[in-house]
Amino acid sequence: MVSAPKYIFVTGGVSSSLGKGIISASLAKLLQARGYSVTIQKLDPYINVDPGTLNPYEHGECYVTDDGAETDLDLGHYERFLNVPTSQANNVTTGRIYKTVIEKERRGDYLGKTVQVIPHITDEIKHRIRQLGNTGQYQVIITEIGGTVGDIESLPFVEAIRQLKWEMPKDVLVVHLTLVPYLSASGELKTKPTQHSVKLLQEFGVLADVLVCRTEHELSPELKRKMALFCNVEAGAVIEARDAKSIYEVPLLMEQEQLDLVVLNKLGLSVQKAPELTQWKEFLHKLYHPVTEVRIGLVGKYIELKDSYKSIAEGFIHAGVANSCRVQLEWIHSESINEDNADVVLGGLSGILVAPGFGHRGIEGKIAAIRYAREKGVPFFGICLGMQCAVIEFARNVLGMKGAHSTEMDAQTPYPVIDLLEAQKKVTHKGGTMRLGAYPCELTEGTKAYEMYGRRTIYERHRHRYEFNNEYLADFERAGMTATGINPEGGLVEIVEIKSHPFFVGVQFHPEYKSTVENPHPVFVGFVKAAVNAKKGVSTAAKV
Ligand code: GLN
Repeated sequence: MVSAPKYIFVTGGVSSSLGKGIISASLAKLLQARGYSVTIQKLDPYINVDPGTLNPYEHGECYVTDDGAETDLDLGHYERFLNVPTSQANNVTTGRIYKTVIEKERRGDYLGKTVQVIPHITDEIKHRIRQLGNTGQYQVIITEIGGTVGDIESLPFVEAIRQLKWEMPKDVLVVHLTLVPYLSASGELKTKPTQHSVKLLQEFGVLADVLVCRTEHELSPELKRKMALFCNVEAGAVIEARDAKSIYEVPLLMEQEQLDLVVLNKLGLSVQKAPELTQWKEFLHKLYHPVTEVRIGLVGKYIELKDSYKSIAEGFIHAGVANSCRVQLEWIHSESINEDNADVVLGGLSGILVAPGFGHRGIEGKIAAIRYAREKGVPFFGICLGMQCAVIEFARNVLGMKGAHSTEMDAQTPYPVIDLLEAQKKVTHKGGTMRLGAYPCELTEGTKAYEMYGRRTIYERHRHRYEFNNEYLADFERAGMTATGINPEGGLVEIVEIKSHPFFVGVQFHPEYKSTVENPHPVFVGFVKAAVNAKKGVSTAAKV
């Protein structure tokens, strides 16, 4: 690499949930579309070492990378926008920082010294940021700081930015995302909260270079000038970020506002070509002009917080576009379904997805939903726990194994068709100990899985402790549920299908983590296609 990597920090003020992740991903997309190699990192101020131990209600979905890191869901946005895999290095929490520093202290690395927030914690933070720059893979590293400036927990991160800006004034840029609220009573946009949040950042010694302002209404040039004056930024560096119909439109809105140009000029990077966004724009056009529409039910127990299934919902958007179809997701609580009401709750759907999950709550509703899909020939897609439930349902209702279950839910079941992975039997700690990350899977030719992927070996990401119990495999296959994808090392069943059904596919892995705008996931695409056919009354079962 010729020049030193550049570091862009994205901080947030005024309010949480302003969409720092989407702004970071959009800026990265624009720089990538101009030919720069970019990666995005998220620093999270909480004390958990990773979000793997968090209930989805706390923090939404836990996203998993190829290298098996359990990470913040924003990394999903980064991959969906950039189409480049992330890794553990792209997500660091306060807990991980402190864990490393304390382990070093115990080893004696700081022998004789008092270990303090400054410089030891801030040095470790800076190390984690520069680590991505030092790989030589990236020209630009965008680091998003979780939380809001002024939070006690994020202070060491802000201090690390101050130090890096001091050490590398030409290579560091700070983009501050704020809110410009509209007061309907007076009919005005208000800039005061932004002024205060920029001042707070200044108190910590950090000057914002670019302001990105979330707003429901247009920011007039006059308002932009006013904010520039009060906040110490150039007028051209006050960027309006209006609410968009889709997150995938935000890169184009940011291009119109010239966020990429402002950033490149400030970092002294050349502006050689216009962003190449042809494919992105085609995607957006198809997204906004669907030819058809299907209703698909997402059955899960965390539906009150839609972020719990973020990657699944995005996977449907990508797969919908690939089928020129708008997928209308119906969020159905698994606890609301039972054998008696399944046809009322699920009637009229063109497809049913049963979501991943942990623990007993809602499990019988998932099983009832699967029975309905199997018996009525409604396209079915089960992910992880959803696949395991499909196995349990088949055991109970087709193989007559009364009381069949997963040992996760019922340790005493007479038919443990889903059982703990051998490697999990010695595990005592909960954090980071599941079967995590990408593993190979061999597909059988002539199956729906093979038809969708179009190749024999695939790599998919995992996050589970339980697996299909191979002692029962022969019984299942004789009755029509076959294992069509197998992990070649351990023989673990990764995919099950029912051949006689229009579309009945359960996967032990999480395909949703790998679906991107440029590469919609083949199983999502195949499932949506089956749903479109189901709506039209065409069966796809005969094809394979
Ligand atoms: N609870 C199941 C297991 O641990 C499924 C996990 C999941 O759905 N991610 O195997």
